[in-house]
Amino acid sequence: MTSQNRSGSINFELSLGRALSQAVRIRCPYCGEGRLFAGLFRMHCVCSECGTRLEREPGYFLGSTYINYGITAGFSTLTYVLLHIGLGWSNRVVMSGLMAFCLIFPLIFFRYARSLWLALDCFFDPLGAQQVILTSRRSESRDELSNIGI
Ligand SMILES: [Zn+2]
Repeated sequence: MTSQNRSGSINFELSLGRALSQAVRIRCPYCGEGRLFAGLFRMHCVCSECGTRLEREPGYFLGSTYINYGITAGFSTLTYVLLHIGLGWSNRVVMSGLMAFCLIFPLIFFRYARSLWLALDCFFDPLGAQQVILTSRRSESRDELSNIGI
């Protein structure tokens, strides 16, 4: 888990389960408390609780579109195969429903895709997460660097 304890030091251990749990809750993967979104589609620039910058660089969340697209396309393909080929539903009925799904689902899943992207990136690239945390916290306090031994 990447969290801040009571003494103010940061723990950079983040398990996959914890990362996914934070992603499903749409919370900051670093502290688990701050909300990622300020509105329906507008993200906070920094975590409201720990102050960590959420977008590491411009275009950082472009990768979340791959998650969103992959889940939408995968589910659509499986549903088409199951309903049309497996159960013999007409192509017109299945495609109408799937077209509506493909338009609506990505909008609903947008927040989760970004949250998953951030959590998985934090899990698979903990060094990058440390740099983001330290860079954003460096302006707040130089004492944090000595607490974690850097
Ligand atoms: Zn946070």
